Amino acid sequence: MLSTSAVMNVIIVVEKQIIFIVISFFFLEYVNAQEVPTDMKSITDRAAQTLLWTELFRGLGMTMSYLFREPATINYPFEKGPLSPRFRGEHAFALKRENCVANKNPTPNCVFQAITIEAETRADGSRRTTRYDIDMTKCIYCGFCQEACPVDAIVEGPNFEFSTETHEELLYNKEKLLNNGDKWEAEIAANIQADYLYR
Ligand code: SF4
Repeated sequence: MLSTSAVMNVIIVVEKQIIFIVISFFFLEYVNAQEVPTDMKSITDRAAQTLLWTELFRGLGMTMSYLFREPATINYPFEKGPLSPRFRGEHAFALKRENCVANKNPTPNCVFQAITIEAETRADGSRRTTRYDIDMTKCIYCGFCQEACPVDAIVEGPNFEFSTETHEELLYNKEKLLNNGDKWEAEIAANIQADYLYR
């Protein structure tokens, strides 16, 4: 036999559910722009959904299902996503750097005038760079410099993790570009090979 307080509790719960349904209908009717069906089947469906909390359980089911799926994110920096061979990252003097003839092509092609080139003519008549500076804080990684370089000396490699604490560290000189070339030579060669049909 139910006690009076238990009966009162049930009445209060049912009362709250009825108030919730009435408020829901109000919002559906006056706030939601869509027309709400008012036939008996639709009304009982909506009432059953509200009373039985089916949306809540469907939502929980959806959440649980994601526990068993492949995650859409990766654990960067310990995991890294794939990079296109055409990715334009940090600059380097790479594979054909010995061919560099201090051609001024990349300088006018640089949208932001980030490149400064100086050259000298050696005793054997060859022309070689004495200075090749890139202000990486001006660079927008458009790739025009590597497109304009007639001997493929300056390239943009796959490295995108070269943030620094000071501005000065991003003012690259020839030595820094040569070091980058040594460090990333294998990856740059593989990227050029993978993309050679389109160059
Ligand atoms: S990638 Fe940078 S350095 Fe090269 S042309 Fe574009 S802005 Fe200039």
